[in-house]
Amino acid sequence: MSAARFGCVDGRSALITESLDNYIDIEKFSGGKLPSDPMACINRWSEVCDLAKTLPSAKATDLIALNFDKLDCPVPRPRQIFAVGVNYKAHAAEMNHGLPKEPLVFTKFPSSLNRPHGQIKLVGEKCDYEAELVAIVGKGGRNISVADAWSHVAGLCVGQDFSDRALQYANTPPQFSLGKSREGFTAIGPYITDAATLTTRGNLEMTCRVSGEIMQHTQTDDMIFEIPDIIAYLSGICELFAGDVIYTGTPSGVGAGRTPQRFLRTGDIVETTIQDLGTLRNTCI
Ligand code: ZN
Repeated sequence: MSAARFGCVDGRSALITESLDNYIDIEKFSGGKLPSDPMACINRWSEVCDLAKTLPSAKATDLIALNFDKLDCPVPRPRQIFAVGVNYKAHAAEMNHGLPKEPLVFTKFPSSLNRPHGQIKLVGEKCDYEAELVAIVGKGGRNISVADAWSHVAGLCVGQDFSDRALQYANTPPQFSLGKSREGFTAIGPYITDAATLTTRGNLEMTCRVSGEIMQHTQTDDMIFEIPDIIAYLSGICELFAGDVIYTGTPSGVGAGRTPQRFLRTGDIVETTIQDLGTLRNTCI
């Protein structure tokens, strides 16, 4: 059985076919049973997944050709965006950080959300890329156990955590949240893949290319804190809500950690591909 792929086109909830060539409009295809608003659909995730099972029987007239350039952010108004820093051992070493004893969490503000094929407005000389696996919360709560955590995840997608290193490290100690929240610096998508049917969810291959050159390449099982650990930790402190976004950290190979350093330049195309989750592509301007 193929997994549901949930996206947003022209502000409306969509389900994308396995071929990635077409999508259906969720509200129209469900005969009005499900809403057009993506946040409302994430709140009714199991119904969205049930509808996705009927996609193979969609009539040709239900299918609309998919243009990835037209995809919007699949989670347009999350209440919270969490991000975990220093969550891969090799990245901790390249950034001269010790290994964290607990997840090192910061936030990216929702006003920085971008489209899957969006533009990154570079500021200064030290804007950097970070490829990340992103989890979208489907069912909120407090004090969620590690054992229950996956049942609170709607799906997974690709993320790019753009970072202004000059701003991030302007002071000692550094601050992360503003340096990672400039306009367009929070790219997720291109669509959300249902986690429950994703047998590979615990170990996915992730590759980040900058203008065609491979910069980051890892298996996500190299994470220090895995998705269930992060959800248990966060929900012990903050209430989680459906539609919350969780960036799970980047592997080694970021621009700031290379010799010589390689920061983003106008015209660079940053592409991150995660096995079974698709490719994000942002263009630097
Ligand atoms: Zn990051």
